[in-house]
Amino acid sequence: MAIQQTLILIKPDGLIKSLTGNVISRLSEAKLTIMGAKVVRVSRELAEKHYEHLKGKPFFEELINYIVGDVHKTYRVLALVYQGENAITKIRDIVGDTDPEKANPISIRGSYGRITTSGVFENVVHASSSPEDAEKEIKLWFQPEEIVEDIYPIKEATLNNVKKIVWA
Ligand code: UDP
Ligand code: MG
Repeated sequence: MAIQQTLILIKPDGLIKSLTGNVISRLSEAKLTIMGAKVVRVSRELAEKHYEHLKGKPFFEELINYIVGDVHKTYRVLALVYQGENAITKIRDIVGDTDPEKANPISIRGSYGRITTSGVFENVVHASSSPEDAEKEIKLWFQPEEIVEDIYPIKEATLNNVKKIVWA
């Protein structure tokens, strides 16, 4: 038994279909601890880094359009970090197979996912598939101060000439 972290994204189809509550209720069956949560407007750059491993696939461009929100005209995703024993497999079991038609009908993707006419799997959620992917993804989507505990090593850095948006 290993303590693992995992990144979940409720994708734009999940948000536009008002599935946020259902998805979080289903995820809570895994009895994990929530470590971070935020709404993100996904840039093309972030989307392409997140799905880097799928570059070159025929559905890649459509997948990027989907995750940034162009397909549903809903420009946000809900990003969540969970931690606990065997978090990755526990969550992947609840989430179901990548292909909503193959997914167990009682899983999140089996219940709410669909395949578009262009063949993209609109499968409501993302969930990390290995500890290595989870670490890479969590560090991509979250800053250390946005996670309630230091789940990975941190360091102090002095950043000069960094422009930042602050409340006016
Ligand atoms: N995807 C797709 N068609 C495919 C494979 C993947 O549309 O044949 C999309 C789908 O939305 C999936 C995402 O690309 O969730 C990432 O693919 P991956 O193979 O990493 O599946 P996941 O880890 O999300 O189950
Ligand atoms: Mg994946």
